[in-house]
Amino acid sequence: MTKSDFSEIKKLLSQPKKIVIIPHKNPDGDAMGSSLGLYKYLKNNGHYPVVLAPTAYPKFLHWLPNNETVEIFKENEQDKLDIIAQAEIIFFMDFNTLERIEEMKPFIDKSEAIKIMIDHHQQPDSFPDYTYSDTSICATSQILYHFLEGLNDVENIDADMATCMYTGILTDTGSFRFPSTTSTTHRITADLIDKGAVNHKIHNNIYDGNTMARMKLMGVALNNLVVLKEYNSAYITMTRRELRANDYRKGDTEGFVNMALSIEGMNVAAIFIEDLEGDFVKVSLRSKGKFSVNQLSRDNFNGGGHINAAGGRLDLPLAKVVEIYKEAIKKNKDEILNSND
Ligand code: 5GP
Ligand code: MN
Repeated sequence: MTKSDFSEIKKLLSQPKKIVIIPHKNPDGDAMGSSLGLYKYLKNNGHYPVVLAPTAYPKFLHWLPNNETVEIFKENEQDKLDIIAQAEIIFFMDFNTLERIEEMKPFIDKSEAIKIMIDHHQQPDSFPDYTYSDTSICATSQILYHFLEGLNDVENIDADMATCMYTGILTDTGSFRFPSTTSTTHRITADLIDKGAVNHKIHNNIYDGNTMARMKLMGVALNNLVVLKEYNSAYITMTRRELRANDYRKGDTEGFVNMALSIEGMNVAAIFIEDLEGDFVKVSLRSKGKFSVNQLSRDNFNGGGHINAAGGRLDLPLAKVVEIYKEAIKKNKDEILNSND
């Protein structure tokens, strides 16, 4: 984002505006953290913002400051269409293609609002008027901090904003352990703590809300874990029946794929989960080192994401999806085995 972009946006925001903030569907900690952080910033500056999430999101994010103001597009669509139609500015947080908001896409296409994308995924689409995209940065919530730097407004980050942004950085870095975590990330999170983010409480809210049902589901996942030793790869499957039998709640399978990747010697891991409503399989992919699961997902699973974390979906039976994964792993064997070089 250039200096002149920032001064144009600053000017745009110098008068109260109706603003819609959209995270991607099935929003995660970074999507909600960056959206609600931006919400509070705009609210503090006299605007009329609303966070409009395409779908609901897991309970472990419901404690975020101002969560009660979030609107869900899928619930009572007509009201939500009015919100979009009246928007003067729309922010797109933590995604870069309108495919990631599915049913909302046609209404966004029609909107004449100024569109601003803040994101860190690979290969952004070019639909917005302003794009702040940096794939080297660990979290959209960190880019939001840089965005506020660009607007000369870091000093106005309040405790709610700091809490939301810290949460986004925490969750998208796997608790500050992925390679995308830099010294700048730590300096920013230190500043967010100074500005009121209570780090131990945030960690507790995010990671220590396990239900017995989720622990049982984790047992099922671990039982279904398959290691393809020859390919330094592993995968987990979860059927609809297994989810139902263990009282599945949204977000329960979050992080399971990382258990597969944590096995000694693994460079690629996947989890394949049958959707409970649609007739498709949701795919989550993780890797270590140079091997790009973003590319693997684009080539095989209609998805995308980052080099080391990506997702997608296929409208095929679970067994077929697993077969496609195994074929793809075989095809990329050399790259996977040499991923750590
Ligand atoms: P997860 O596996 O946690 O659902 O997603 C990992 C990463 O891939 C996230 O950054 C997410 O935004 C991205 N991602 C997940 N599913 C999809 C998808 O269907 N399409 C695209 N383009 N990206 C996805
Ligand atoms: Mn993110």
